[in-house]
Amino acid sequence: LAARLQGFGTTVFAEMSALAVATGSVNLGQGFPDYPGPPEVLDVARAAIGTAADQYPPGPGIPELRTAVAEHVRRFRGLDRDPGTEVLVTAGATEALSATLLALLETGDEVVLFEPMYDCYAAGIAMAGGVARPVPLHPPAPSSPTEPSGPWTFDPDDLRTAITARTKVLLLNTPHNPTGKVFTGAELALLAELAVANDLLVLADEVYEHLVFDGGQHLSIATFPGMAERTLVVGSAGKTFNVTGWKIGWICGPAPLVAAVRTAKQFLTYVNGGPFQPAVAAGLGLPDEYFAAAARDLQYRRDVLVQGLAAAGLPVISPAATYFATVDVRPVQPDGDGLAFCRTLPERAGVVAVPTVVFYAPEHAHLGRHLVRFAFCKSDAVLGEAVERLGRLA
Ligand code: PMP
Ligand code: GLN
Repeated sequence: LAARLQGFGTTVFAEMSALAVATGSVNLGQGFPDYPGPPEVLDVARAAIGTAADQYPPGPGIPELRTAVAEHVRRFRGLDRDPGTEVLVTAGATEALSATLLALLETGDEVVLFEPMYDCYAAGIAMAGGVARPVPLHPPAPSSPTEPSGPWTFDPDDLRTAITARTKVLLLNTPHNPTGKVFTGAELALLAELAVANDLLVLADEVYEHLVFDGGQHLSIATFPGMAERTLVVGSAGKTFNVTGWKIGWICGPAPLVAAVRTAKQFLTYVNGGPFQPAVAAGLGLPDEYFAAAARDLQYRRDVLVQGLAAAGLPVISPAATYFATVDVRPVQPDGDGLAFCRTLPERAGVVAVPTVVFYAPEHAHLGRHLVRFAFCKSDAVLGEAVERLGRLA
């Protein structure tokens, strides 16, 4: 393994999903829904198989999907993006992120981002020869089952200190995995101000844009003053239409930046997901009510899991968005080791979860050592079974 990939090994999602299969545990580790996507989307993919859609689609994605992405971003964010030059279809959000980092970073360029951070960021930055500069997010006190948790917060001075003359990119994930944090307007205004002042490019991972709870609003940093011309926004069909295995993502932003990402994508996968592209185009055109209903449905699942975790004696940080809730394991794991807790949870309770520590750089591991992430994007029967099994911990 090349030096730049030392330490990345196997992703924890693969390890934990394999552990779930091997032990017959309920898998609340990897974040994927176990219920199907909307028939309006699935039917289009079925009908496309066996047609010309099975062959290489155009490099930037089929025009129908690029237009649908541009219309979606206009409908939900009020942004004008030209489907011809400002939208690129990618192999999931993962490729959009990696291709962008490969396209933009020179060796030694720095990327400022919040920690905990989704696992592909550190690897993507390393593969591009860049350096990650994580800024810690601080957890709120766990909530009671009836009261929402406070937000995860950061110290603006930590952010200012992390930005140096070598910083090229601010990588912002909101709504945020694994914390479920939705960055507020005031936080985004500060980030935007710093991006302009330091002439940073912003890579905004908004794959959970529609999965926001309790009437909260996702705001895109691309809509803040001075941002449209320096921000690339990443989306994913996986999260919005329950089709994580399709790996259809997209990126949109100013034409020169999208062209740069396209240059890298050409030589990573060239193109991807022929028959899925028209299906995702149909999904992006669904009425507002589809997106609102998806959030309501997931909010109900969040509440089921959060109450179950609390009943099992685990202090929970209830998320404002995403697929994931966070617990503090110390009451049931006296050494406070979340990784050890996850490795023994299949034996103790027949459930698999992901230790939050894997979302931290090794030197900051102490910050997330006692935290564990549980996914709630699961059917009623699976969540019910998980909650019952977690009761064995109490
Ligand atoms: N970004 C975040 C924050 C994610 O949680 C995920 C996957 N769950 C991705 C990107 C990757 O998305 P995709 O599966 O579309 O590559
Ligand atoms: N993003 C999903 C999660 O956070 C999993 C994606 C993956 O397995 N790489 O669980």
